[in-house]
This record gives sequence, structure tokens and C-alpha cells, in this order.
Amino acid sequence: EEKKSLNFIEHIIEEDLRNGFSTDHLRFRFPPEPNGYLHIGHASSICLNFGLGLKYDAPVNLRFDDTNPEKEEQEYVDAIKRDVEWLGFKWAHECYASDYFPDLYKWAVEFIKAGKAYVDSQSSDEMAKQKGTPTVPGTDSPFRNRSVDENLDLLERMKNGEFEAGSHVLRAKIDMASSNMLMRDPIMYRIIHKYHHRTANNWCIYPMYDWAHGESDYLEQVSHSFCTLEFAMHRELYDWFLDQVYDIEKVRPKQREFARRNLSHTIVSKRKLLKLVQEKFVTAWDDPRMPTISGLRRRGYTPDSIRNFADTIGIAKRDNLIDVSLLEYCVREDLNKKAARVMAVLDPVKVIITNYPEGQEEWLDAENNPEEEVMTYRKVPFSREIYIEREDFREEANRKFFRLKLGGEVRLKNAYIIKAESCVKDADGTITEIHCTYDVDSKSGSGTEASMRKVKGTLHWVSVAHAEQVEVRLYDRLFNDAAPDSHKEVDFLEFINPDSLNVVKGFVEPSLKNVKEGETFQFQRLGYFCVDKDTSENSIVFNKTVSLRDTWAK
Ligand code: ATP
Ligand code: MG
Ligand code: MG
Repeated sequence: EEKKSLNFIEHIIEEDLRNGFSTDHLRFRFPPEPNGYLHIGHASSICLNFGLGLKYDAPVNLRFDDTNPEKEEQEYVDAIKRDVEWLGFKWAHECYASDYFPDLYKWAVEFIKAGKAYVDSQSSDEMAKQKGTPTVPGTDSPFRNRSVDENLDLLERMKNGEFEAGSHVLRAKIDMASSNMLMRDPIMYRIIHKYHHRTANNWCIYPMYDWAHGESDYLEQVSHSFCTLEFAMHRELYDWFLDQVYDIEKVRPKQREFARRNLSHTIVSKRKLLKLVQEKFVTAWDDPRMPTISGLRRRGYTPDSIRNFADTIGIAKRDNLIDVSLLEYCVREDLNKKAARVMAVLDPVKVIITNYPEGQEEWLDAENNPEEEVMTYRKVPFSREIYIEREDFREEANRKFFRLKLGGEVRLKNAYIIKAESCVKDADGTITEIHCTYDVDSKSGSGTEASMRKVKGTLHWVSVAHAEQVEVRLYDRLFNDAAPDSHKEVDFLEFINPDSLNVVKGFVEPSLKNVKEGETFQFQRLGYFCVDKDTSENSIVFNKTVSLRDTWAK
């Protein structure tokens, strides 16, 4: 097995192990907030955490960070589980921060008793004014020295729903002069009167991220808690909260940060992706143009391709933008191995082979996938009338055009050599038929001299009489800008590509008559395509996953 060099996160773990931390105590978690569907950025975090679990044979929890009922829903919980499973990972425990509400509350009461928390009854504006700036210390709230009894009474009544949202908060009493603004008496609880998908209306106060996260890690005995760089400044607070509850006999979680992964020509923010759905720029969270795991799945991406992508980009200490063509490369590589080759014509023009007998048909052998170890074959029908791609024919063309032109020859894949003799046009000058003759002895694989004759250019085709008409959805990038949400002055929606979807009617060979949702094929010379979930008894819908080569303009 090839030995990969360690990334900086693995170095941190290795160092802990060298210093005596037991491998038995290693434990990780992936902590999504169920306020949207997972996207390709999350895939990095999933592959990091679950990858470490596999590497060290350590448990990895799937923890829903469900502390804000205003944005969270069961639908998102279900989608997240489906996506992590589909990527091929198994969590040790399915956990919910909301399951820890009683523990957090009990600790908050202890904080108050120890003089480490107080109820502040000012408005958020007033509190903001007292915060100070990084160089100017903040000023104390007039409620900072409330008595323990008053604080306990108020917190309980906040919890029970006696007060309106915004009228009180519980704050940790830390240091209004700290150089880290997050340490200036951060809010632990706020009042929210909302139904929660798990705790219903039991709670009228909800813990802030900083208060809930480290303590959840501690309760689960997570040893290493990895989050993205924007939480680096939060680490001091994470540690402060842990200091208050930590028992020396237990594992003390360690927060470390890595860079968010951004992908070019798209956005990775659940909030903004939700906007695309709500404002109908896309059809749903799983629209094949979305950078969500479910969108990529529907587009035809495989779990392996996404995991390879995450492994290839690795993890970094600095934010950067990964070109989407790398993701496309990963799926192309994977599908090249897995996808059966078939013939489809997406912009058809009819070819009539004038010397092929009317009413005759023959079924020719076609290779399923040259990448297979043991070659398998299927039959494709050939007859007098076939479709080829309109762009594969020109009346006149120079020597570099290796497709069909008047007087020229090409091979039809798996079939015969044909020669274009003439063409028929309608009143607008559009070609409606190409009349060809075929070389009777040139059948592929027949072993005749004519079958080995070299002609420049091989075309894909389908027999008109046997073809199945299908809908094909062709996609372009969803945004015209490499980093649509990096512009200070311009909203990301301004960069939406109005032509990101192009629906065409095409024809496929009859072997595809009974395809099922999710099946993937290489349409020869055209790209990789997969069967969309909109497919029904009487209509087949394909999504284009990716082209055969990187054809995007750089
Ligand atoms: P979003 O802004 O899209 O809502 P988030 O960080 O708020 O992202 P969470 O549900 O909290 O979303 O994320 C779960 C985990 O995935 C966190 O540990 C988070 O740091 C990580 N994560 C989220 N986005 C990315 C990304 N683009 N690259 C790497 N890790 C990410
Ligand atoms: Mg978050
Ligand atoms: Mg978020």
C-alpha cells in the first residue's frame, strides 16, 4: 500500500499519541447543523473525520448541531443522514445537541451559583454598544452583579417561557476587557419561542453555538474536534467553557481548525443555496446544477469520485478556491472505469443508406466497456435509416475534418464504412437527409480485407426504426463567475448563468429501453450521462454528468 504523507491534522494526533494519549480514546465527530442540505464543502469535513475514524479504528459520531429551531428541520436531518451514508461512511452514534439541553441547563445553574454567569436584561443594541473594540475595553452591563437568587429565578422563568424573545439573555461572566472580543461576557442562552423538531415546545431558551459545541464534544468524549478556520478565535472560549466542567479523569476535547474548501463557479453556503431554492433559480436542493451532495448524486457523481476529490485536495491551513474542473476530472476517471458505452444521438440528422435493402435489419456486436477485464458485448440494430449528429456532417470541409463530408468516407462504430453521396435540404437550407452508400464487405470484426480498411473518423449512430426517444438535460455552470460570493459590491445572484440548463430530445439505442434511475452510461463521443429520477414508464430522462474531456473555457 502506498504510504501517504501525513497532513497537519494527522500530525496533531500523532503528536498526542507520542505524548501518551491512548488510541483507545480517540473519537471524532461530524457536526452538521440541520438547516440545509450538505454540500461539497461538507464532503471535505466528512472525509476528514470519517477518514480519521477508519485510519485509527476510532468511533465517529454524527452529531446534529440542532440548537436553533428557527432554521432547522427534520427534512434536513433525513437528507444529511442519507448523504453521509451514500458517501459510504458509518457513524458510531447518531447524536443531537438537543439531547444535551438538560445537561447544559444544569451546568448553567452551576455557573450562576459560582458567580460565572448572569442574566442580562438589556436590548441587544445596548449590549453591542458596551462591547468596545479590540483596542478599547468594553463596559460592564448594569446587570452584571445581579444576585445569584435573582439570576436563578430569571433563568428558570426564561426557560419556562415567561418572557418575550429578546428581553433577557444569560451571559458568561468572563472579562469585558479581554483582547478577544468573544470573551467579553458571551451569550450562553437566548429566548426563542419556536417549535423544535425534537424537543417540541419543552424549551424556550436555546444555547448558543459556543456554549453548546464544546460541551457536546465533552459529553460524547470526542478527543479531537475539527472545525473550520473562522472558529479559531472561538477556541479560547471553547476552552474556557470546558475548564468550568472538566473532570480530570475524562478525555478533554481539543478543538483544531482547518481551511474551508471553496469550489470555483459555485457557492458553498447553505444559507445561499437555500436562497437559490426558495427563489427558484434551481428546482430543488437536489437540482443537478447544485453543489450539494444530493445534487451531485442526481447529476451522476459517484461516492468514490467525491471521496477521491476530497482526498486529492486534502486539507489545508489556508482558505483557497479549488477549480471545479478537478471535481469533474475525478468523476470522469471513475465513470471511465464503471460506465457502459452506448450510442446516443442528441442533435439528429437522418442518413439513408441507399444500397442497403429496405426492410432489412441486422444486430451487430458492440463492446460494453473496453476497460473491463473480461470483455462483454451487447447487440445493436443496424438498418437502412440511421441518425448521426448534425455536426458530424458537412457538405464541404478541409482535410482536418475527420467526420462525414460529401464524397468522403467514415466508419460507423461497430458497423460499416459509409460514403456520403448527396444531401437533401428544406426551404431554409437546413439539411434533412444525407444519402450514403455503404461498403458491403466492411462490417467491423468480420475479418475481411474491407473490414480492416483504415478510414479517418468513426461516428456514433442509432437506427431510426429501433431508436428510443429520450429527454436529455445538458448543464452548464450555474454561475458565470469563478467566485460569485467573493464580491463585496455585487450580490452572488447577479452572476447566475441564465443558460445553465439546456433540454434536448435525443435518440438512444434500444438497449436503454429499461434503464433505471441512477444508472450511468458513457454516450460514445458525447460524455457521461445518468438516468434522472424524473424518468417514468413512458419517458426516459438523462442528465449529462460531465463531458469526456475538459472542454470548459478557462
Ligand atoms: P454553511 O455556511 O454552509 O451553513 P456551516 O459551517 O455553517 O456551513 P455546518 O453544518 O455547521 O455548516 O458544518 C458542519 C461541519 O462541516 C463543520 O465542522 C464545518 O466546519 C464543516 N464545513 C462546512 N462547510 C465547509 C467547507 N466549505 N469546507 C470544509 N468544511 C466545511
Ligand atoms: Mg455551523
Ligand atoms: Mg451555517
